[in-house]
Amino acid sequence: MEISEVRVKLVANQDDRLKAFCSMTLDNEFVVRDIKVIEGTGGLFVAMPSRKMSDHCGKCGGKNHLRAKFCNHCGGKLSENRAHQDQEGRMKLHADIAHPINAKCRKDIQEAIIKAFHMEVEKSKQPGYKPVDMDTPDE
Ligand SMILES: [Zn+2]
Repeated sequence: MEISEVRVKLVANQDDRLKAFCSMTLDNEFVVRDIKVIEGTGGLFVAMPSRKMSDHCGKCGGKNHLRAKFCNHCGGKLSENRAHQDQEGRMKLHADIAHPINAKCRKDIQEAIIKAFHMEVEKSKQPGYKPVDMDTPDE
């Protein structure tokens, strides 16, 4: 698989931990959008497109985000630790929509995205810089 193009839309607010939205084209024929570059404690990392996971209230069956403490529909109290946890004990609140399934592919994608991100940051310092025209998802 070849990553033929990466487009990077920088996030204007420099204080934001979310640094950019990206799209990547694979083999010149398949595009994955809504990839994020995030500033973590250990440096920049790439987050694949994901959706918030939710579950259903035990009383009324209403749908709630896993972080909700009370049901949006009946107001009943929801148990606090109902999200699955990863190996480090962090709550798993998002599920990836598209993601690499092996370490090499993950590394290739990370490197290509981070490289494109740094190039875009350099470009943005030039006078007359125009940000990439890309629809950003509504969060
Ligand atoms: Zn409910």
